[in-house]
Amino acid sequence: MSAIESAPSGAASTVRVQAEGASGFLPASAPRAERLGGWWKRYRDVLTSIETIATVAGLACLAAGWLLAVAGHSSSRWCWLAAALISGSPILKACVTSLWQRRISVEVLVGLAIAAALSIGEFHAGAVVAVMLLGGTVLEQLTIARARNCVTSLLANVPEKVLVRRNGVEVELPASELRAGDRIISRPGERLAADGVVVEGDSAVDESHITGESIPVDKSLGDKVFAGSINQSGMLEIEALKVGRDTTLARIHRLVEEAQASQAPVQRVADRVAQWYVPLALVLAGVVWALTGNVERGITVLIVFCPCALVLATPTAIIASIGHAARQLILVKGGEFAEVVGQTHIVGLDKTGTLTLGRPVVTKLVVLDSIDSTELLRLAASAERFSEHPISLALRRAAEQREISLLEPAGFRSIPGCGVEARVGGTRVRVGRQDWLEKQEITMDARGRARTEELQVAGHTVLTVAGDDRVLGLVAVRDVLRPEAREAVALLRGQNIRLVMLTGDNPRAAAAIASEAGIEEVHAALLPEDKLRLVREWQAQGQRVAFVGDGVNDAPALAAADIGVAMAAAGTDVALETSDIAFLNDDLTQMPRIVALSRRTLKVIRQNIAFSVLLNLASVLAAGSGWISPIGGAVLHESGAMAVILNAIRLLR
Ligand code: ADP
Ligand code: MG
Repeated sequence: MSAIESAPSGAASTVRVQAEGASGFLPASAPRAERLGGWWKRYRDVLTSIETIATVAGLACLAAGWLLAVAGHSSSRWCWLAAALISGSPILKACVTSLWQRRISVEVLVGLAIAAALSIGEFHAGAVVAVMLLGGTVLEQLTIARARNCVTSLLANVPEKVLVRRNGVEVELPASELRAGDRIISRPGERLAADGVVVEGDSAVDESHITGESIPVDKSLGDKVFAGSINQSGMLEIEALKVGRDTTLARIHRLVEEAQASQAPVQRVADRVAQWYVPLALVLAGVVWALTGNVERGITVLIVFCPCALVLATPTAIIASIGHAARQLILVKGGEFAEVVGQTHIVGLDKTGTLTLGRPVVTKLVVLDSIDSTELLRLAASAERFSEHPISLALRRAAEQREISLLEPAGFRSIPGCGVEARVGGTRVRVGRQDWLEKQEITMDARGRARTEELQVAGHTVLTVAGDDRVLGLVAVRDVLRPEAREAVALLRGQNIRLVMLTGDNPRAAAAIASEAGIEEVHAALLPEDKLRLVREWQAQGQRVAFVGDGVNDAPALAAADIGVAMAAAGTDVALETSDIAFLNDDLTQMPRIVALSRRTLKVIRQNIAFSVLLNLASVLAAGSGWISPIGGAVLHESGAMAVILNAIRLLR
């Protein structure tokens, strides 16, 4: 039977689930009891479900009946009746509920088949069918729980107890009592219980579970840390900022679970199919019964006609492929995307932060007014103080390296894709694109223009710095290509995907980076709305578009694209929320990987659907012509459903 509706979601939402295999933190040498305990925790919801209990009890009655029959007792019949009633009760109950609510469901067919078998005195057949079908459901649920658990175990967990300093005293609390603002004391070897910021101490912290970075990151005063990271070497005192359900880890968990629970378009088709499948089965069984005068054949038709394999075909594949992706640190949000990505025609790539590392450095300062370069950088970096753009970080770092103290900006404004504006010590400072400043009537002299062009041809991004209404100077920054960008571009091209670079940077700098990456089609000097317009134009031509961006100033294009892909999403909330797919680690080759996975998923879904339709047809013929008994029908039916699930599970590998 279809296990999807009834699959216990709790199996996946247990946060305390222990890890399995290498990615987990439970060592392979963990004591047997502990591993068994982990297993029990993971599958507890399935193993203690009514279905499991009714299967086991029914099986016991069935076996008792066989023993009695072997011993020649006539009371064996009553054991079989008991087995049929016990194992059949969850099915019969679902059948009655569906009929009562005038809903058509798969249980109606099986329920009627069991009731019919019992009413003609075929207690043994009724019992075997009930135990097998219910047992099959349990197996299906276990398999699906396994697919879900892959994700849960990957994302590991947070400790159950935390050491906290409250009012100067150290107390150990259950993690559930932790509040934002608490001071957590973290010892070496411990996992962090909350997202927060380091207020004392320094240590190397392993945050590979969220960022994919396997080398521990040094953390000291003011650095942000994630729940679930492992403190490797020193003592840390951390102010908790986000606890419990609000941590990045918990949100990632939720997103994956929601995605697995969401329905793909193909699945909705399967649901609709079930609507006419079931009445058809009833009519067919009636016709077979009327023509042959054989009730048993009619019953067998009912059993084999159940579209269980068909109903399971898509969701199991989706769950498995989303689980696989999550293990690779790719968050896929929603079942649709697992299908759609593989059919992408165009991938639009942002430049800064996507094709490049997004860690530009200041390469040149050009003074065009009566100030010195220190003052130029001080003004520019101060104006950029509150910006999140990678360029602004470059300016602040450069100022820091030169030990230039920054001023407090007032009235800060950031214009996405153009630049920033702020008042710094009485001067109205604007830093950004030359064309943006020209639009505001701030023009550059011939010398400045020549210098700009010279630097751009050499692959630098040149920012104009204006003080009040005059150009003060230029700041050149340069970003480097991601080491894996060329490979990712080549792989995507091999998948027959058209690649286009979309950037707000000037055409000369853009061309330099594009040719380095191996991308031929470039659109430069774009504003965020131009990126959006291009995406819409392609869509209007019937192209399916994916856009890969860093999620902050690319938000409109990310949202409009059929698939919005956010890079390095672990840190930024916007990226995690607005994208359809998020790469938790910073690896651009995830893009061809997810395309390939999506294509494999679609293939498995098609195989599953074709297989279940053919199997159904064949077994209905066999049942109608009396080649198989109701018991044989139940075996055929359940093996079909299991085959579909096992085929889907292959996607986990
Ligand atoms: P990309 O499309 O390459 O990611 P953006 O759209 O973020 O680039 O920005 C386009 C251009 O706008 C940058 O090359 C830069 O010249 C200017 N710009 C954007 N944000 C800022 C900023 N915070 N400070 C200075 N210049 C900026
Ligand atoms: Mg960008």
